[in-house]
Amino acid sequence: MNRCHFCNSKSLRDFQAEEKMLGLGEQFTYQECQDCQSLQIKSVPTNLSVFYKSDTYYSFSSLVTSSSLKNFLKKVRMRLFLKTGASVFSPSYGYWLRELNPAYSDRIVDIGCGSGQLLYELWASGFGNLTGVDPFLDSSKDLEPGLSLIKGGLEDLPGEFDIMLMHHAFEHMAEPKKTLETCRQKLKKDGRLLIRTPLAGSSAWEEFGDNWVQLDAPRHLSIPSLEGFKKLANDQGLKLEKILFDSTAFQFWGSILYQRGIKLAGTDCEAHFSSNELREFQKKALQYNQEGKGDQVCFYLRRAD
Ligand SMILES: [Zn+2]
Repeated sequence: MNRCHFCNSKSLRDFQAEEKMLGLGEQFTYQECQDCQSLQIKSVPTNLSVFYKSDTYYSFSSLVTSSSLKNFLKKVRMRLFLKTGASVFSPSYGYWLRELNPAYSDRIVDIGCGSGQLLYELWASGFGNLTGVDPFLDSSKDLEPGLSLIKGGLEDLPGEFDIMLMHHAFEHMAEPKKTLETCRQKLKKDGRLLIRTPLAGSSAWEEFGDNWVQLDAPRHLSIPSLEGFKKLANDQGLKLEKILFDSTAFQFWGSILYQRGIKLAGTDCEAHFSSNELREFQKKALQYNQEGKGDQVCFYLRRAD
């Protein structure tokens, strides 16, 4: 009998969820924990890789590098941003980076790094001890001095890290307990872990149910609720220091497309919604984030001992 991956409860409600992003229509059984509201797939499909065969999913488009002049300017800008926090100097990912306030020498890993674009941007901005890991890479490779990518999983990472990053990778892993346990083992003393993930029990889940775009059956294997994540992190020796809601208009327009029976792959949201509607969705997302109701979060964790 399955238990909740997050709070270990036996009280689980089964429901059906359809593959909607590619529009394949295949049905999967998911379970909602009746104690902590976390969500999980009942059994992991053996042919899961079939559901990743889409250009729209993983951005394995080739890495975009920039000129040495541009990289020099990126370094100046990052220095000013970390020093002042001024949004005028902020890169697009600055809102979650600033909270980490990393040192340039920190050993940083991006788990589920794709082509390594984010790591490249950090490297171009002056960070010099960067690793990426992703099971879907063609091969392991050194992109730049101080920036290497490893083909593999979390367990293949050598050594310990000051900062570990998981940008929408956590929900693709079948065993969240093992994931957090392994992260904890690979963090240096006082090391930090940032997990960005969809959030179960959020308003979009309540409003759209199995049409919630971030349920994403069968690719999302386990989606924590706030309560479930707090418990699991604590049990694994990780201190949850801060929660930042960063949901977007996507939670509305993506879910509404699913309600209308439209697949996401190859669909342009501007063909289905007016710019005014999209602006309203964005406003509503910001409001949800302020109220702690958004459908995705940044969890900032620190090794507890
Ligand atoms: Zn639970």
